[in-house]
Amino acid sequence: MTDDFVPKDAAATETAAIVTEVNDEGVVLDRTVFYSRGGGQPGDTGVFEWDGGSVAVTDTYRRAGVVLHVVDGVPPAEGTQITARIDWERRHTLMRTHTALHVLTAVIFRDFGAKVTGGNMEPGRARMDFELDSISVEFGKQVEERLNTALAQEHEVSVQFMPRSDALADADLIRTKVNLIPEAVDPIRVIEIGDIDKQADGGTHVANTREVGSVRVVKTESKGKANKRMRIELSSGTEPSTAPSSAG
Ligand SMILES: [Zn+2]
Repeated sequence: MTDDFVPKDAAATETAAIVTEVNDEGVVLDRTVFYSRGGGQPGDTGVFEWDGGSVAVTDTYRRAGVVLHVVDGVPPAEGTQITARIDWERRHTLMRTHTALHVLTAVIFRDFGAKVTGGNMEPGRARMDFELDSISVEFGKQVEERLNTALAQEHEVSVQFMPRSDALADADLIRTKVNLIPEAVDPIRVIEIGDIDKQADGGTHVANTREVGSVRVVKTESKGKANKRMRIELSSGTEPSTAPSSAG
């Protein structure tokens, strides 16, 4: 089983690792800092380097619990000692995007009582669907203003591992359907953004909402009854408050 650093340390950008398996789908390592796609967040990209070679990693995903790194080129052979390094700029932009989405869902629930029905993100842009009866350009502007106000309040973002029984009894987590998480998952990973949002979540986030910068609502559209879509885009880069580091 791969020792996965991502859940505990979103700022780990590289690690020494050993190739434990190479198959048709990808490369398996004994340890990794690559995020495997899930929860609307794309898998990491980056590079593997070893004595006498290197190859680009174009995607990371999980199948039956195994983290598979997809490479573009000749993979390192089983047993090779490598350095595995993510594309930190892309990942940090995804972290900003992911945190922005959590704050967006919190603002819309707090001020309009609407829950999320779905969503997706790519670096710097995302869409999210809400159980809203109507949506308009004016509504989008209003949400944009409230979202940016919340981000500018510099809320700390924390990662906790909560015993499943505690998570199931937590009022904030009940709202985000924590009971639908498979029973085998214990403890449950929880992302808390100041006092404005708390969700069970497997993704990577920035350490403080100021790192997100400002966000624009670029489109609002109807996707049917009680299903309205909002598209957001991030402004250009911000400095990470946590410096990227090596894992372990
Ligand atoms: Zn999330």
